[in-house]
Amino acid sequence: MSVLSNPSEVAREALRQLALRRVAPTPDNYRKLYHEIAGTRSEDEGASESFLRSLGLRLPRDSAERQRIGREFDQALAAGKLKAAEEALGRYLDGLKTLEPPAWNELIANLLRAWEARQPGWTTARKRESLDRVLNAADPATLHARLQGLLRGWNQGGAEEGGESPGGESRAEATGGAALPAQPARPAGTSTQILRLVGNEHAATLLKLLQATLQDVVPAFLGDHPELADEATQIAQEVGATDDTARLDRIGARLRQLAHRLEMTAADDAEIRSGLLELLRLLLRNIDDLVLDDKWLAGQIEMLREIIDAPPNPRNIDDAGRRLKDLIYKQSQLKHNLVETQRHLRQMLAGFVDQLARFSESTGAYHDRIGSCAQRIAEVNDISAIGPLLDEVMQETRSMQDEAQRSRDELIATREQARLAEERIAKLQEELDEASRQMRHDQLTGTLNRRGLEEVFEKEAARAQRRGSTLSIGLLDIDHFKKLNDTLGHHTGDAALVHLANVVRKHLRPQDVLARFGGEEFLILLPETETDDAYRALIRLQRELTREFFMADQQKIVITFSAGVTPLGTGESFEAAMKRADAAMYQAKQAGRNRVMQAPLKQAAV
Ligand code: GH3
Ligand code: MG
Ligand code: MG
Repeated sequence: MSVLSNPSEVAREALRQLALRRVAPTPDNYRKLYHEIAGTRSEDEGASESFLRSLGLRLPRDSAERQRIGREFDQALAAGKLKAAEEALGRYLDGLKTLEPPAWNELIANLLRAWEARQPGWTTARKRESLDRVLNAADPATLHARLQGLLRGWNQGGAEEGGESPGGESRAEATGGAALPAQPARPAGTSTQILRLVGNEHAATLLKLLQATLQDVVPAFLGDHPELADEATQIAQEVGATDDTARLDRIGARLRQLAHRLEMTAADDAEIRSGLLELLRLLLRNIDDLVLDDKWLAGQIEMLREIIDAPPNPRNIDDAGRRLKDLIYKQSQLKHNLVETQRHLRQMLAGFVDQLARFSESTGAYHDRIGSCAQRIAEVNDISAIGPLLDEVMQETRSMQDEAQRSRDELIATREQARLAEERIAKLQEELDEASRQMRHDQLTGTLNRRGLEEVFEKEAARAQRRGSTLSIGLLDIDHFKKLNDTLGHHTGDAALVHLANVVRKHLRPQDVLARFGGEEFLILLPETETDDAYRALIRLQRELTREFFMADQQKIVITFSAGVTPLGTGESFEAAMKRADAAMYQAKQAGRNRVMQAPLKQAAV
């Protein structure tokens, strides 16, 4: 359409178009057509367009999205499409609704927390690099969105994520920013998983697990660090009581701190342990060099060296501890007796020296007197005077002889006493060896005695408790032992006890413990053994006893026993468990002997 400049022509053309387009001949329609033909704007349109244009100039174009909408708006306005421009403006305003208000304070706090925390797959260097990249954002809104994405990426661990979650709310915010405790060894993705679970029933289970770990597991490793154990217990209690994300947030911070302190403590402990071991090694080498010929001590040193060099094994250490205690006891006894014997020898030696002195005194006097006799003899003129002088010489010589004889006798006696003292020392050593062995062992069978059993039981019970494993107890009593004693004699009875102990020891595992509990009753501790297995082990022992029979006076005698077997209950006393084992053993006797009965724990309550 050509643009007419003459208003009257425009007015005529407007009327013509009104008829031509069959538009209702209203003043509004006429005005619109007039302005269209003249290429002018009505006053209203012009006003709204200029208003829109001025608005468009003021709209902040501070994000990619706003720039895009701003361009659409400009183009619509340039094409005279006011409606399209209005729509673009609407979209811009909608965008403002979703983008504002950016919670910068919260975001920065979460970022700081996440920066300090350790997440799988995110080193500080990697974090810094990703942060640098995000900081390049062109505008605050983009920066906000990207930082939230980054935070999500860090907290979820593993792969970096840059996207914005719907509504702009990150998971870290949803959980109050609580990151899980730093676990470098944990496979990547686990923490992602945990974070995803927060808010459903699995999250509660995980929190419970965390609580149990802090309550029971962590303190068990911190015997030497009560303050850390306390902190773990306190956090566990807080975990148990938490019901809002703010508290979870605080727990997260405390956990991270605890993890850090634990890491430091573990490193210190490891250093102390290896340092002490090295010192012990040096000490052993030193002692070894000094006492090469002392078999007694060399054996103990060898035992210690084996313990140090092998991977740590609590049972070996217990055993070595017991043997060293025996050694200390033995040494103190021996030292006391050696001092006594030395004192005795010193007295004897002093007596001998006195004797020698007296002897040399008397021999000196003898020489003097003989000399004077000789002189007087030489001076004698009368032979009759020589007789009494000779008598005198004879007398002197005889007493000299007596003195010599006495000294010789005393010498022989002293030598005999020294020999006896030496023998006594040797015997004492033997006796002490035996005495120290008897402190914890039964003299006849060499198995542990009650005292030894008590010590071992305490340790095994504690170990079973710590590991959550079963410690089974077997109590066995020889069948008709009185009859064996009565028919073959007490001595043969003793030999039968030794035989039984040997067979049992031979077929037990090294970690099982055999103790003589009373006359013909023995007790077996079976660590890490379910009662069914302990039962089978005792049945196997019965079978072995029928194979390896006992020989007495050319007779083959099969020893049988009846036994009760039971597991040690949690926190149960030795006496309580024994009572159950004893009752089961009694049942085995009642049922005809030569059998094993089980006493499961639940029977204890009946
Ligand atoms: P049951 O099958 O019911 O156990 O009968 P038993 O004869 O084995 O039991 P009882 O308790 O009546 O007798 C145990 C005997 O064991 C009595 C005691 O003389 C004997 N005894 C205990 N200690 C020793 C020991 O050290 N040496 C010997 N030779 N006998 C012992
Ligand atoms: Mg008995
Ligand atoms: Mg018996």
